[in-house]
Amino acid sequence: MREHVRVLEGLGADVGLVRRPEELASVRGLVIPGGESSVIDKLSRAFGMQDPIRTAIAAGMPVYGTCAGLILLADRIIDGIAGQESFGGLDIAVRRNAFGSQLDSFETDLAVPELGDPPVHAVFIRAPVVESAGPSVQTLARLDDGRIVAVRRDALLGTSFHPEVTGEHRFHELFLQTVRAA
Ligand code: GLN
Repeated sequence: MREHVRVLEGLGADVGLVRRPEELASVRGLVIPGGESSVIDKLSRAFGMQDPIRTAIAAGMPVYGTCAGLILLADRIIDGIAGQESFGGLDIAVRRNAFGSQLDSFETDLAVPELGDPPVHAVFIRAPVVESAGPSVQTLARLDDGRIVAVRRDALLGTSFHPEVTGEHRFHELFLQTVRAA
């Protein structure tokens, strides 16, 4: 989360941490960071955050999810742990830990036409991929093998990778644009 805060503050945003339902009302956009999606899911339910976040997403609040955050924005999770839920909002099926144990983490340069040049230097850490996406979802980036790793639908943005750790700030700019427009 610290890296997201640094990037967003660098872009001029006023950033606060949301841990409780009442704190959600004080923000105009939300970043769901990486981590372990099943743990974030469990904690969000334990702290009464699931319903408020679902309601905020349905009301059009801009949300950017990276890695585990992308999993939490997916309507369907493949290879989730038993009972794992998501907030949903993106009509996608996401496969957790899609690169298996041999290739836990890797970095690559990704062409993202929406962001122009240069390509995005992307860090994948036990990352998910988008296995299928409905017609409402725009694909922003694919790996060389065609697998989808960045998507958008209205004010929702998700990436399998972590742009916040490499000094890349264009995805956060895109997110802030939707916050300002919302
Ligand atoms: N593998 C993690 C999960 O399933 C995601 C890893 C990450 O966020 N870097 O939630």
